[in-house]
Amino acid sequence: MRSFAAGLAFLAAAAAAQEPPRGFEVTPLAEGVYAVVRREPVGMMFDANNVFIVNDEDVVVVDANATASSTRETIAALRAITTKPVRFVINTHWHFDHFEGNAAWRDAWPGVEFVGHAATRDELAGIGARNRAGMLEFGPGMVEALRRRLAAGRDAKGDPLDAETRAALASDTAQAERYLGETKSARIVVPTIEVRDSLVLRRGGRTIEVLHLGAGHTRADLVVWLPAQRIAVTGDLVAWPVPLIGNTAAPLDYAATLERLLALGAGVFVPGHGPVLRDDSHVRLVARLAAAIRDHVRAAIARGDSLEETRKRVDLEEFRRAFAGDSKLRRSLFDMYVAQPAVEAAWRQAGGAKPD
Ligand SMILES: [Zn+2]
Repeated sequence: MRSFAAGLAFLAAAAAAQEPPRGFEVTPLAEGVYAVVRREPVGMMFDANNVFIVNDEDVVVVDANATASSTRETIAALRAITTKPVRFVINTHWHFDHFEGNAAWRDAWPGVEFVGHAATRDELAGIGARNRAGMLEFGPGMVEALRRRLAAGRDAKGDPLDAETRAALASDTAQAERYLGETKSARIVVPTIEVRDSLVLRRGGRTIEVLHLGAGHTRADLVVWLPAQRIAVTGDLVAWPVPLIGNTAAPLDYAATLERLLALGAGVFVPGHGPVLRDDSHVRLVARLAAAIRDHVRAAIARGDSLEETRKRVDLEEFRRAFAGDSKLRRSLFDMYVAQPAVEAAWRQAGGAKPD
């Protein structure tokens, strides 16, 4: 039988696991260039990384955060580094975790310009509005379900939660609540400068390229490329520990877009979620996965397979293992963010359905 003291220690550890570490770490990458990397435990990837590019006279920021309050924390971190004003915020894509905090940047620097892909307005008005309405409608129920699972200490299959999954659930619940608490009154700020293929910002001695390399995570992803420092800020074209080839993606285009990203020859990648990557091995693995999904699904369509047959035949276990190892949590994230949505999205795209 568990002793009383051991029981208390267990309860204290469980309580600590439910208190998720918050915030982010600021990592200098090169002169004036800082990655702001989220440090919540691995989970549903609620909030996005940011990058500060401090130039001779101003600052360029890559991505806002999911909420105004988390964006204000990012702004406070920038103010601790420099007093220079923010001139541009570049949104890598329209997803709320990279976007909803735009208003907080404008509150802090009213003259700031927002750089986004030309399709962003349409995406926000269409799928973005539907997503947001869905979050408001179903979000509270989802939070309740997460909370119940956490209290019961069991996963969806009824198995006991392991430590990694428990930490993820606690953190995801807290972040989802924060998002739902703020999103109702969020002011959506759309791009003031639109990019179709590329835009070059010359700020003092620095060159910053904003590139649309093709569809992938969405149909309108932007990459921020610092050629002198060989740093690529990828948005969610690259995410860690598992890629986000979900149902707003263009899976058939994804591999070719990543090949163009790899061809830049970056030495450092800042992904939309996850730690700074100091070599291209993770990006190459995502490109191989995307190519495998594309090729399997094209072959299935050529054989005349139904969606259900295609789902059964496309075997991604090699990649599930490569990304997730033996981690139960990461394997389930791989299924949630890749295996389930991407095969269907690729199948629809190959059948002529437009990605949205
Ligand atoms: Zn994201």
